[in-house]
Amino acid sequence: MTKPAKPAALQVDTLMINGRAVPVHVRHNPRARRIIVRVDLTMGSVEVTTPSKSGARRAMQFAAQQREWIAERLLRVPSAVPFRDGEVVPFCGEDHLIRHVGLRRPAGIKSGPVWRVTHADSDAMPEICVTGHEDFIQRRIGDWMRNEARVELNERSLFHAEQFDVRPARITVRDTTTRWGSCSPTRALSFSWRLILAPSYVLDYVAAHEVAHLRHMNHGPRFWALVREGIPHYERAKTWLEVNGPGLHRYGIATTD
Ligand SMILES: [Zn+2]
Repeated sequence: MTKPAKPAALQVDTLMINGRAVPVHVRHNPRARRIIVRVDLTMGSVEVTTPSKSGARRAMQFAAQQREWIAERLLRVPSAVPFRDGEVVPFCGEDHLIRHVGLRRPAGIKSGPVWRVTHADSDAMPEICVTGHEDFIQRRIGDWMRNEARVELNERSLFHAEQFDVRPARITVRDTTTRWGSCSPTRALSFSWRLILAPSYVLDYVAAHEVAHLRHMNHGPRFWALVREGIPHYERAKTWLEVNGPGLHRYGIATTD
């Protein structure tokens, strides 16, 4: 499993703050001395840590008392970046400009309502072009991203599966928020579509990591030795995810304005 170094939430709830439902994750940490509330500035969510495993309710009440402080912190959260005309979003680690090119696909563009344009001969930013009614841009680019993620993650997973001499039962791509990838006891691999936003070497590392779990269902030295066989400099990708991973959750979220 590839995920941030955080314990699983005891409870996921919401808190109404200034008319907005803010997600609250209550986590258990036996080493915490008291209930601690913090605002995750990349996710715009609230994290509550409680020393008691049965203290989820008490922790939620405590968070509710901190409403004003939370509201003030939330003002500093970097805003969500929806998929719409003029926004800049990363794709394979590179900034792309979203360009709505009208209702119909121009002649010469063969497949689908979304395609990528790169400018090999200039410094201009590559573009993700989309056709159709404005209301469908978000959905169309979202579907396209998921599909690109599926193709890439399939390809990289099967590559490492052959390398490690294992066979996954199934590979799926989802919109997960707490894990970049997972490997089930039934040999099913699952990944976050947002990995397509990250540089390719990061996506490749997460694929190799989950495939390596088909051999070792733990994070022991033999597991990491196998990952290293597939990705010799995997630490670089791990660090990238720790630093930049949370920020990827800003993209492709519909805003109400
Ligand atoms: Zn793992």
